[in-house]
Amino acid sequence: MIIAPKIRGFICTTAHPEGCAKHVAQQIAVVKNRGLIANGPKKVLVIGSSTGYGLSSRISAAFGANAATIGVFFERPGEADRTATAGWYNTAAFESEAKAAGLYARSFNGDAYSDAVKMEVIAAIKADLGQVDCVIYSLASPRRTHPTSGEVFKSVLKPVGEVFTNKNLNTGTGAVTEVSIEPVQGDDIAQTVAVMGGEDWEMWTDALLAAGVLADGVQTVAYSYIGPEVTWPIYKNGTIGRAKEDLERVQKVLDGKLAVLHGKAWVSVNKALVTQASSAIPVVPLYISLLYKVMKEEGTHEDTIEQMDRLFRDRLYNGQPQPDEAGRIRVDDWEMTAHVQTLVGQLWADVNTENFAQLGDFEGYQSSFLRLFGFGLDGVDYAAETNPDVKIPSVG
Ligand code: NAD
Repeated sequence: MIIAPKIRGFICTTAHPEGCAKHVAQQIAVVKNRGLIANGPKKVLVIGSSTGYGLSSRISAAFGANAATIGVFFERPGEADRTATAGWYNTAAFESEAKAAGLYARSFNGDAYSDAVKMEVIAAIKADLGQVDCVIYSLASPRRTHPTSGEVFKSVLKPVGEVFTNKNLNTGTGAVTEVSIEPVQGDDIAQTVAVMGGEDWEMWTDALLAAGVLADGVQTVAYSYIGPEVTWPIYKNGTIGRAKEDLERVQKVLDGKLAVLHGKAWVSVNKALVTQASSAIPVVPLYISLLYKVMKEEGTHEDTIEQMDRLFRDRLYNGQPQPDEAGRIRVDDWEMTAHVQTLVGQLWADVNTENFAQLGDFEGYQSSFLRLFGFGLDGVDYAAETNPDVKIPSVG
């Protein structure tokens, strides 16, 4: 079939296998150009490994440190006349590149929140690797079925307490409008914490520990975001922020549990970037467009791959994690410098539909978004007949 982007609101319902492969290859090239990470991880489990920060974590570990990787994700395979999701194609490409480089890579497509997937992954670690020395937790999901109660929890993106009104970007048209988001109702907070909080990270760690598949000195990392005050009502102080607080609670619990292995749990606060998950958050895409403009002009812009390479190379594996006062790793440090935030703050005050093309990096936002689905990459013939039914070697 001829594969073109089909955008519905903040998602793209098609993906291009060759474009996704190019996107993965570009990320691998970034990491390889920076040379080998000395004393890097050797055997890595990435939960949420097919897109965004998790994919870049897997690429950084494999191609930056020659690590064996196991990836877990929830993606849809392709059919003769229907494309797979981008994460499926990304993983197919990752596995073939890993194989060509002589690196072990095995993947699991299923619900990471379930006991069954945890047990399958543990069996694979036992059979193939013995133990893992690094576990990355990078799930972003709108819902979770609880493995013991069977209850289905749904996460929402809402402010707590009062209506939040601010500027918002229509990512399709570039119009800057105003959005008002109603505050939480009922058990919205508890629901969101159940999905995006730390309970499942703890369940994974407990299961891995009980099975004896965590190596001495293991490090486990979950990802968070804080961002500037303009986004706090919808992010840091909203329902998702409550879930991230819960992640920090669990990080401390896991530190205690991993002490027997001289292990360490971390929350890493990462930069705001265009991913499938972040595109769904109101207000954030406008902030990202302004942030990209400023950071590209300053020469400090990074994408998920540069962020994750820096996390592994300059924080987790060089003995200098540089935790903040709350014990978190901060690779959002360049985003959060006072200088960058002052400039973005000025743009935020001034931006409207008429001047957005000048003040914001809309082109950068849109091209980043399309690249997530394998569109707009150089060297891909988008007019050519393309087979959407691509296999992931270790999944089928
Ligand atoms: P993403 O949507 O690109 O990736 C989500 C991953 O989770 C995918 O691999 C997907 O397959 C997997 N997944 C979802 N539900 C699953 C399930 N039930 N079972 C197995 N896998 C499942 O998202 P992202 O933006 O890379 O987010 C990853 C983490 O990084 C999140 O914790 C997010 O809050 C955090 N983060 C994101 C940003 C940002 O700006 N994007 C910034 C800082 C922190």
